[in-house]
Amino acid sequence: MIRIGIIGSGIIGGIIAYELSKIEGIHITLIDEKMPASGSTGAALGVLMGAISHKTKGKAWQMRENSIRRYQKLIPELEEMTGIPIPVNHDGILQLLFPENDLEKLEKLIAIRANQGWNLEFLSSDILKDKCPHVENSDVVGGIYSPEDCQINPTILTEALVKAASINGVECKFGLKVENLLSMPVPGSEIRRCYSLETGDGIIEVDWAIVSAGLGSTHLTKSLGKPLDIRPVLGQALRLKLDKPMGHKEFQPVITGNDVHIVPLLNSESGIGNSELLPKFTKSSPSPETPNTSDTTETPSAEYWIGATVEFPNDAGEVVADAVLLDKVKQEAMEFCPALANGKIIHSWLGKRPRPEGQPAPIIRKLPDYENVLLATGHYRNGILLAPVTAQIISDIIFDYN
Ligand SMILES: Cc1cc2nc3c(=O)[nH]c(=O)nc-3n(C[C@H](O)[C@H](O)[C@H](O)COP(=O)(O)OP(=O)(O)OC[C@H]3O[C@@H](n4cnc5c(N)ncnc54)[C@H](O)[C@@H]3O)c2cc1C
Repeated sequence: MIRIGIIGSGIIGGIIAYELSKIEGIHITLIDEKMPASGSTGAALGVLMGAISHKTKGKAWQMRENSIRRYQKLIPELEEMTGIPIPVNHDGILQLLFPENDLEKLEKLIAIRANQGWNLEFLSSDILKDKCPHVENSDVVGGIYSPEDCQINPTILTEALVKAASINGVECKFGLKVENLLSMPVPGSEIRRCYSLETGDGIIEVDWAIVSAGLGSTHLTKSLGKPLDIRPVLGQALRLKLDKPMGHKEFQPVITGNDVHIVPLLNSESGIGNSELLPKFTKSSPSPETPNTSDTTETPSAEYWIGATVEFPNDAGEVVADAVLLDKVKQEAMEFCPALANGKIIHSWLGKRPRPEGQPAPIIRKLPDYENVLLATGHYRNGILLAPVTAQIISDIIFDYN
């Protein structure tokens, strides 16, 4: 039995645990100091900017493409296995265009995607008005619509991953903090090896340690003398309730403009979206910092998440939520979709994205000078999108497939 310890049960630790749990001959322990999705994952909007992203080649595009392809199979697989309906908005992503957007560049992107087998559509302002009459802004000159991209509820997805992993035999230890990783030199070499995880409740022996602890990764790598510099970039978002859906209730894509997302929450009573894919949000006691995913099915209404701010830390690495910035995001969303002004804010929250300093996001590799410590962290703004490919890369490193 290969013993694998995974530290952190956000989307990244959860998906690694699940994907590895399908392989015979390993014993996995998944540890989180809180509950799954308590960190950045629980605050995320779950917008998967795949085909609509501007990455067209190399690793950046490959990672996105692999992830969205894996999601297409992963979601039904998890739903079948766990019985948890995972809210996915399959109405696609609509990116609004403004006069300053380079239309020639966008036409090239559409052509590249067509070659890669992905469909992106250019919407003139007339077609946009027809498809999404709730977008009412004279600055908007049209849109790019990506029907194959989607949005997923990150908290429920993580819960399903953890449940599926535990059905497959993963040992889950929640409410347990890993304090240190203990290591020793590999005889006859400069390399070291981690042999156990030190927790408040004793030692967990491992053959591989996977650090998927988001912002907590800095402390853990420090205990091995190799501190990773990962800093918090704060994001605030809110949930707004309207009496009825905006636009055509059967077509509710995620709308994104100027880095602000308007995310329809599918709701069986309001009839938004495809009723087979409807979420019945099940989380019972959301923390004040995370999206309130409960009780959307009680009244006929339409709800939208709006976000998120991008707030960088000061020199001391601290970041405090700025109410003015959240209000700016809300105002901007209302400028695109004036009907949002009739809505009532029913919840707001914040989260901290783990952003690597001095190196690109994400960090998915071995910790230098250690033969069995893997980093799967620092996903910054794309952790939900890049979760499946992260699990693939980690599995490839462990089983030396490359
Ligand atoms: C407002 C907002 C909106 C976002 N929207 C999107 C989006 O639309 N699409 C997208 O792709 N991404 C989005 N993101 C980014 C995304 O949330 C992150 O990239 C992703 O959640 C990172 O996942 P993670 O599992 O690495 O980290 P986390 O979710 O932070 O998980 C780390 C876990 O490790 C645990 N932990 C830490 N230290 C220890 C320790 N010593 N012992 C045990 N456990 C430990 C923590 O409790 C935590 O549960 C958004 C983020 C925010 C804040």
